[in-house]
Amino acid sequence: MDLASKVRVIKDFPKPGINFRDITTLLQDAEAFKKTVDALVELCKDMQVDVVACPEARGFVLGAPLAYALGKGVVLLRKPGKLPGRTVCYNYELEYGSDALEVHEGAIQAGQKVLLVDDVLATGGTVAAAVELVKKSGGEVAGIAFLIELLGLGAREKLGDYPVVTLLQLE
Ligand code: IMP
Repeated sequence: MDLASKVRVIKDFPKPGINFRDITTLLQDAEAFKKTVDALVELCKDMQVDVVACPEARGFVLGAPLAYALGKGVVLLRKPGKLPGRTVCYNYELEYGSDALEVHEGAIQAGQKVLLVDDVLATGGTVAAAVELVKKSGGEVAGIAFLIELLGLGAREKLGDYPVVTLLQLE
């Protein structure tokens, strides 16, 4: 099965000029979802990691089954105000304005090796913030996995030498 064909493109979302890759059409297809998770497991199975961390919301959908298959726990990286306990926060700049990611204090132990998982790598801004949050929590990013890498946006340069794996590379 061609997984890329299961990803729907929605033009001009969330704003004019953006071709949004909608992965809900892939997720709701049992065979495509299983194939996606199995393929991500295959790409990540040799990474030496202690825990999987993923940003909301679509990162959760892939991070949780991947963590389960790898026999690891899953740590949620959330937008501000969502986590009930004390948090570590990382603020970052966007093209217009700023945003932040939070994680519970102690969710990532000092020195733990973390596998970051998200659905789409676009400009790399979100994952760069997730990397900084993991570091601020005392963890070490040992690998980064995406379902989709959007090519030509310069994201890889932002990720330096971290081991990055992506299942689908799209123009
Ligand atoms: P970046 O920060 O520009 O790399 O964008 C990646 C983040 O935005 C990820 O958390 C994605 O979920 C989301 N994102 C960006 N572009 C798309 C897209 O085309 N489809 C789905 N999610 C996207």
